[in-house]
Amino acid sequence: MEHMTNDSQLEKLNKQIVACRKCPRLVAWREEMARVKRKAYRDEEYWGRPVPGFGDPKARVLVVGLAPGAHGSNRTGRQFTGDASGGFLFPALHRAGFASQARAESRGDGLILTDLYITASGRCAPPDNKPTLEELNNCQPYLERELEILDPKVIVCLGRIAFERVMRIYSASSPKKLGEGTWKFGHGACYQLPAGAWILCSYHPSQQNTLTGKLTVKMFDDIWKKAKSLVE
Ligand code: SF4
Repeated sequence: MEHMTNDSQLEKLNKQIVACRKCPRLVAWREEMARVKRKAYRDEEYWGRPVPGFGDPKARVLVVGLAPGAHGSNRTGRQFTGDASGGFLFPALHRAGFASQARAESRGDGLILTDLYITASGRCAPPDNKPTLEELNNCQPYLERELEILDPKVIVCLGRIAFERVMRIYSASSPKKLGEGTWKFGHGACYQLPAGAWILCSYHPSQQNTLTGKLTVKMFDDIWKKAKSLVE
């Protein structure tokens, strides 16, 4: 029953997200990218809209990324699907038992997530992969709502921007309990919120990190093992 409720609440939220046009710069960019396309994908119809969260409505692990890639999830319409970051993320989630398969190509590829839900700090593809502070602020209520609905036990922040966004949300509700400046982003850093949930930090699986060896397969696997151990 509980998950039915979550299910319909998330569905309602995702409808709102997909229809959002709050950030004029991003609306223009996501639509322009969907029109111009990358050569390799010129026969595909791009999503070109805000990318909603997806996964298990009963998830105890919530993963927070940065924002859609112009030719990744802005093309496929599903978080981390169809780009190099997803090509690093989903095999790791599969190895850890959170994803039914390592392959993630499109919304219709059959991938099912168990006990894990993936969302982002910003829902629209930004130029240079950099949303502005104002754009992230505009998008924050959607993440707050997801946190409310899912009430996760572990929040995995992929990258500093996701971590700062999550911290901003929780320090707004209990500023005294979270010592300002004492929680720092670092790969593997882990903090417990006063209400009991854990925040677990990881470097973002972007090519910038994975091709340079800043984030290795082993380091990433350890994050998902840790997430598993925290919900057990
Ligand atoms: S980034 Fe978020 S707030 Fe801005 S238009 Fe997209 S969905 Fe709306």
